[in-house]
Amino acid sequence: MHDSGTSSGDSRQRVKVLVPLPLGAPYDYLVPSDMAAGVGSIVKVPLGSREVIGVVWDEGDASGLPVEAAKLKAVYAVLPAIPLTATLRRLIDWVAAYTVSPAGSVLRMAISVPDALASAPTDTVFVAGPVMPERVTPARQRVLDVAKDGVPRRSTDLAEQAAVSSGVIKGLADAGVLIGHEVPAERSFESPQPDFGPQVLSPDQAAAAADLTAKVAARAFAPVLLEGVTGSGKTSVYFEAVAEALRGNRPTLVLLPEIALTAQWLDRFAERFGVMPAQWHSDLSQPERRRVWRAVSEGRVSVVVGARSALFLPFHDLGLIVVDEEHDTSFKQEEGVAYNARDMAVVRAQLEKCPVVLVSATPSLETVVNAETNKFEHLLLPERHGGAELPTLSIVDMRAEQLPAGRWISAVLEEHVHQTIESGEQVLLFLNRRGYAPLTLCRACGHRFQCPNCQAWLVEHRHRARLRCHHCDFGMAVPEACPSCEAVGKFAACGPGVERLAEEVAERIPEARVAVLASDTLTGPARAAELIAAIENHEIDLLIGTQVIAKGFHFPLLTLVGVIDADLGLAGGDLRAAEKTYQLLSQVSGRAGRERRVGQVFLQSHLPEHPVLAALASGRRDDFIRRELEERRVHGMPPFGRLVALIVSSRSEDAARQTAAAFRRAAPHYDQLQVLGPAPAPLSLLRGRFRFRLLLKAEKGAPIQPVIRQWLARVRVPGTVRVAVDIDPYSFL
Ligand code: ADP
Ligand code: ZN
Repeated sequence: MHDSGTSSGDSRQRVKVLVPLPLGAPYDYLVPSDMAAGVGSIVKVPLGSREVIGVVWDEGDASGLPVEAAKLKAVYAVLPAIPLTATLRRLIDWVAAYTVSPAGSVLRMAISVPDALASAPTDTVFVAGPVMPERVTPARQRVLDVAKDGVPRRSTDLAEQAAVSSGVIKGLADAGVLIGHEVPAERSFESPQPDFGPQVLSPDQAAAAADLTAKVAARAFAPVLLEGVTGSGKTSVYFEAVAEALRGNRPTLVLLPEIALTAQWLDRFAERFGVMPAQWHSDLSQPERRRVWRAVSEGRVSVVVGARSALFLPFHDLGLIVVDEEHDTSFKQEEGVAYNARDMAVVRAQLEKCPVVLVSATPSLETVVNAETNKFEHLLLPERHGGAELPTLSIVDMRAEQLPAGRWISAVLEEHVHQTIESGEQVLLFLNRRGYAPLTLCRACGHRFQCPNCQAWLVEHRHRARLRCHHCDFGMAVPEACPSCEAVGKFAACGPGVERLAEEVAERIPEARVAVLASDTLTGPARAAELIAAIENHEIDLLIGTQVIAKGFHFPLLTLVGVIDADLGLAGGDLRAAEKTYQLLSQVSGRAGRERRVGQVFLQSHLPEHPVLAALASGRRDDFIRRELEERRVHGMPPFGRLVALIVSSRSEDAARQTAAAFRRAAPHYDQLQVLGPAPAPLSLLRGRFRFRLLLKAEKGAPIQPVIRQWLARVRVPGTVRVAVDIDPYSFL
């Protein structure tokens, strides 16, 4: 046992500091006696020859070696940022352990804005003092005229309003005529008002809202599934929970899957609470990220709406987490630390001791099972708001259609499109494929344009006259002649993309005013907001869209939805193909007839008997879920079993193959688990790297993380090879 009385006598404090680098554990440092570096403090420390930012993770281990023997380096400085809470530090440890990632890599996501850790920037504002200038030029006089109202102004504003150069302002400041004060440079956030624009809720909505507000008021962990058909008012219901958190002065985090979705969501938020919430997503400018991060850490923001990475913002004492569209696969991060923000939101809520509300019209099977086994409470909104009816849904059997080449819209769908537009309503044609055509080939020699870095076809984007890879950044101009046989004018587009569909629409439905909505046309929130406004103002009759338009949107005039290829997601070996297709098609269908007019949906399919389509057509979602769950149960697949993917990749195909084989040889042997592979990944070449996959399948309770850690430790991986671990994988590419 450690005997403090006879130890080295060195009473200087030791701390463990975690740095945001792919390192598994914190390192010990010494705190100089004139410095206070409590747990959670953000510090600057030496690491090798570098100076890095880190976080004091724990008290140092006082029973270890004496300071001198351990050759500890000293902490350089404590930064002025607010220390990370114990809750956030535990979340980071938890995510690292669960995903088998270095804790430092997870920390890196939490302190993603190093600038925000320095002192807050200030601006100098000027007011006129009692002194008058010795020499009053006309320019100086204009400045004095502007400044005489006593309002503090920044130098640039003052110069602009007085129409003078900044030199004039500086001259007056140097002469002591203008007096400068330092003020925070970052704008603060306005406070949402819980009672700004309350809504009258239906009895079902009110009951669900009362349940949620009680949970927020109770300040205890409570996981809830809020399920309701599209248009049932789930957002209105969880806004009541947000209002309750506001009344209790505790912040709320709302996770949303896509930024495109937020334009309408933000407007609704502002109607309900009077101001916009803070936002967090990848499109924010660096100063904006800094402003949000700092304001969250200082407790000056009460609601943040964000994409998955908002999960790691430094909230204090969270009051509520909402995960809207909880089934959405974009909550799963595939690169780097492979985590699912939905699942980790539940973990954070548990650590924060607050409710977490998972919201969906088509909950994931994981969440369905959690609700059925009472791990989650289940709140249900069975009807559309305001008596709106769910749309009628018909399947168009494309095997019976005689469409000429290059056409994709069936006769019956075309007829309904004309009628709908004629009666002053709007149409959505859904096709989940960007660009003009998914494959371009040469009719003379059969050459197919393929990405040089990926095992994938290049997709033609005709309005830019380019061929692009949707997996890496590769792009090239469409050449004059075939690179293989030099034939000119022989290229043929195979299959439809949204651009090609737009061409067909222009020909067959010339009366329609058309907008194409895909991730490459919705370039950023501003462009998205513009297009959405045009649709709301009925400047558009027909939208052609990919999955970016499938979710969340509410367009009252939209009454007809045509799904061009309902089979698109069903092919391939993806475990969740049926589930995801079902969710996507119900979401898309849910865009139709959301107010007084009844909506109509046509699903064009070559597989009309497929269970997913049959369930959609009959409206018997339960049958589909039962069947799908039964199949997963029989095969021991999630949510009844666990999967872990190991992806071994390298620029050298041999190195990747050999390392994958070494993992096979070192595979763990336990009754509860099974290792499959290695096999070349379906995307066997991605961004210039050759990829092999192994899949570990385990029983639900199996302790997979320790098994994976031991497995990783048994194989020596050459420096040219990367091994990525994906717990609960969503992508099987
Ligand atoms: P969901 O998220 O379940 O699809 P929303 O919350 O988007 O449904 O609600 C659908 C539409 O109905 C929205 O335009 C919303 O403003 C409106 N709505 C829902 N509930 C109410 C209510 N209680 N009072 C007024 N409008 C409501
Ligand atoms: Zn590529």
